[in-house]
Amino acid sequence: MAVRLVMLGAPGAGKGTQAERFARNRGVPKISTGDILREAVQEGSELGRTSKAIMDAGQLIGDDIMIAIVKERLSRADAANGFVLDGFPRTVTQAVALDAMVKGGAPLVVVNVEVPETALVERLTTRRICANCGWIAVPGLTACARCGGPLVQRRDDNVEVVKERLRVYDRDTQPLVEFYESRPTFRSVDGDQTPDAVAADLAAAVASVVGGHA
Ligand code: AMP
Repeated sequence: MAVRLVMLGAPGAGKGTQAERFARNRGVPKISTGDILREAVQEGSELGRTSKAIMDAGQLIGDDIMIAIVKERLSRADAANGFVLDGFPRTVTQAVALDAMVKGGAPLVVVNVEVPETALVERLTTRRICANCGWIAVPGLTACARCGGPLVQRRDDNVEVVKERLRVYDRDTQPLVEFYESRPTFRSVDGDQTPDAVAADLAAAVASVVGGHA
């Protein structure tokens, strides 16, 4: 069954890790706007050049740019049978635009991954990602389990920028919970558990909306 999943949650809630796992299991693309922007920064494209300072400051890239990026990405063939969105939408304007993009197809399943704010700062400032492929490392590893690349700290995972990202989240992205929560396709899962337990709850939450196996 095609699933169109939107992962909501604060920075550090585990959205990226869970989105990747879920997408791999279901054979659908994980579309992470943060990954798309970080790749653009690495390539030094125009998008990357204009985004870098904004990302380093923990602020959001403009809605028009982000909406255009996601619209183009969702129009590709691999997204026709479902997708997992990670990091988009981040504002109500983006959410309204997303509704227009998917109109007429399977409804969006929206899952909010909830983690207490005190745990988020600790998670973000200690996490490492692969410098080559962006894989989010499991604690304790010294190299990427996927490609063997070196693990590094994300440029915006230092404590000052993390605090700003959490402020921006509260102001701009938290209102999305209110935007979506009255829909019958909205679910919340407890993100303050082991990754395996969160994955099981996420699968069950999606199954409770679209049917099929958890
Ligand atoms: P993430 O990897 O989702 O934490 O995103 C990293 C950074 O990329 C954010 O702090 C923003 O600067 C930018 N970004 C990612 N997705 C979006 C979005 N949907 N709208 C605006 N900015 C975004």
